[in-house]
Amino acid sequence: MSKIIASAAIRGAHKIFDKVDAKYKEVLEKYGPDQEVGFPNTAYYLPIIYAMTGIGVSKLQDFDQILNLCRRLIPPPVREKTHLPYLAPTLDAGMATFFVEELYEAMRYLENPDCYATGEDQTDKTIWLGAASDLIFRKRGVEFVDGTAPGFAAIVGAAPDAQTAAKIALELQEKNLYVFMCGENGGKRFSEQLAEAGVQVGWPTRLVSFGPDIYQAVFAIGFACRVAMAFGGVKPGDFRRNLIYNKDRTYAFVMALGEVTDEWYANAAGCINWGFPTIADTPIPEVLPTGICTYEHVVSNIPHDHIVQKAVEVRGLKVQVAKVPVPVSYGPAFEGERVRGEDIYLEMGGGKTVAVEWTTTKRMEEVEDGKVEVVGPDVGDVKAGTRLHFAMLAEVAGRNFQEDFEPILERQNHHLINQAQGIMHIGQRDIAWIRVSKQAVEKGFKLEHIGKIIHAKYHQDFGAIFDKVQVKIYTEEAKVREVLEQARASYNHRDARVENMTDETVDTFYSCTLCQSFAPSHVCVVAPERTGLCGAYNWLDCRAAFEINPEGPNQPIQKGEMLDERYGQFKGCNDFVIKASRQKVTNVSLYSLMVDPMTTCGCCECIAAVLPMANGLMTVDRDYTGMTPCGMKFTTLAGSVGGGAQSPGFLGHSKYNITQRKFVKGDGGLARMVWMPKRLKEELHDRLVKRGEELGIPGLIDMIADETVATTEDEVIAYITEKGHPALTMESIL
Ligand code: SF4
Ligand code: ZN
Repeated sequence: MSKIIASAAIRGAHKIFDKVDAKYKEVLEKYGPDQEVGFPNTAYYLPIIYAMTGIGVSKLQDFDQILNLCRRLIPPPVREKTHLPYLAPTLDAGMATFFVEELYEAMRYLENPDCYATGEDQTDKTIWLGAASDLIFRKRGVEFVDGTAPGFAAIVGAAPDAQTAAKIALELQEKNLYVFMCGENGGKRFSEQLAEAGVQVGWPTRLVSFGPDIYQAVFAIGFACRVAMAFGGVKPGDFRRNLIYNKDRTYAFVMALGEVTDEWYANAAGCINWGFPTIADTPIPEVLPTGICTYEHVVSNIPHDHIVQKAVEVRGLKVQVAKVPVPVSYGPAFEGERVRGEDIYLEMGGGKTVAVEWTTTKRMEEVEDGKVEVVGPDVGDVKAGTRLHFAMLAEVAGRNFQEDFEPILERQNHHLINQAQGIMHIGQRDIAWIRVSKQAVEKGFKLEHIGKIIHAKYHQDFGAIFDKVQVKIYTEEAKVREVLEQARASYNHRDARVENMTDETVDTFYSCTLCQSFAPSHVCVVAPERTGLCGAYNWLDCRAAFEINPEGPNQPIQKGEMLDERYGQFKGCNDFVIKASRQKVTNVSLYSLMVDPMTTCGCCECIAAVLPMANGLMTVDRDYTGMTPCGMKFTTLAGSVGGGAQSPGFLGHSKYNITQRKFVKGDGGLARMVWMPKRLKEELHDRLVKRGEELGIPGLIDMIADETVATTEDEVIAYITEKGHPALTMESIL
């Protein structure tokens, strides 16, 4: 802990103590020891003292005991040369400061009963609201428990001007926080600045003007103490539990605006006891992590346009977004809806233009939560029926965010965007496909709303794993291609993480049933050597997703007894799939498209099909729109096998899976591959060469036909015969 802060806080505690002690002598003289004292209309006595010590102060004479306690608590001033551990004495000084300030406020009520308003609002006589009565407390305190209000900002001092004050208050209100105000800076007070800016102050707007001086900080802390006692079941006097309850559940912090006096330091030190950090706009020394607050204790010199964001971050407050802010209806009911033909206003991806979605990690200071940028033409700039390129970059930051979580968030985009009425979303990664309907555009839907959906829903569904997200959407081709390159490098990096894992080395596979909202009986069994057919989830991703959300769509599957080694059937997988498919699928092979293949849903990157006369297999990816040797284009194949059923002879799979060692191993593996689109071959070139060598068929890649040499099965046979493809001499595939 900073020596400067410790010295100042302890000095401040002494100053306040001396003042209160003197005042007490005067008041005692005037009213006598039996005089009743307290905050009006409360059963909590002086709540901080009651919560921390169990002592119910009700008469003037009770002050003696508290003052004596404070004499012991406040350490002697820090001398120049001593090297104490400062934290504990400073915290004690802060605690004592609150005790004596409560005594002071009790005396103020005694001497001048009308100094504060009694209701929820300011009156003609005073703008100061004082201690919350039990009536107000019960109504407002419960909001701290049911989540309507995550906590409060205790603002001390004043902003440089009324406009800045109004802006800060609004930002805090938008985060559903209460704003508790006290103290003055340079003759100005935050509450008065709000009034000057025409902002309505009072409990109903959550902008609570407690009082004009620093002492009224106790009304904020007292409120927190009462919440723990009333709603958290914490007994008066159980200071430890009260402090921990508030640290864990009340997202409060001090925002110090203006010159930080010794008295302010003393109050800030007190707040640290509850885990409430201080964020200051002046260049005071900082107190970085030492173990009481969740993160830093004192952070300083923060500009006013960042101070709310910074405070929320330092306190570890999770952003709540109650409603998805889009001009169309939003919810699971709209997830399966299609946008077709005449209804299409805007289309992106789907093989005709590039559409790529990439969720990536940034540093905390690089992300402005909730910011959505659209660069390039938007709905208002183009005619109905236009196709655009599209790249969406979601930049996520969080104290506890891990790179491993990126694919998990990214894979949600599909479902999240689809839930907007009149918007259709298919695919993921670089095969995304989005349609915006004319009806949605009429209601005011623009591309920025896609970003708003991502921001709101990431927070709602995954708020526990990250703190901030900003979204950038590009529709100009050059920039889209730039993002595409970066995204692909990232996809390759993610895929490669399972490169050296094998199915034999793990006991647990994972399910993925994320796609059941479209294909109700579809279950992906994801093993190290079989990534999900969408390409977006590998075994590590599923494992991480399960850790984040144990009730979610990725469940561990104990693979259990091996029933069939060739086709990759495991008792545990069969048992799981029976249940998860609601009895639609009873047996599933991990390594075959001929015998009990896995089900296929509409998001597969590729679909493989048997070519019986060629004694081999072909596969086609979503980007290839031409005819294939099996007589069907990708769209036709997807339409007939992509509904979540098993279709022997056909199999949805990811691009990466093609070169995984167990790929259709039971049917002969990659050595069966006789046709692929040229571009897919090029994309996988290095891996196909390597895998061919591993299989002892060095020239395999060149033996695989593509559309430049064959689009019918006969042409495939002619080509592979000329090349001496191994499939020709393998056992019959049927
Ligand atoms: Fe999960 Fe499979 Fe759907 Fe991918 S395709 S999201 S792995 S169910
Ligand atoms: Zn799917």
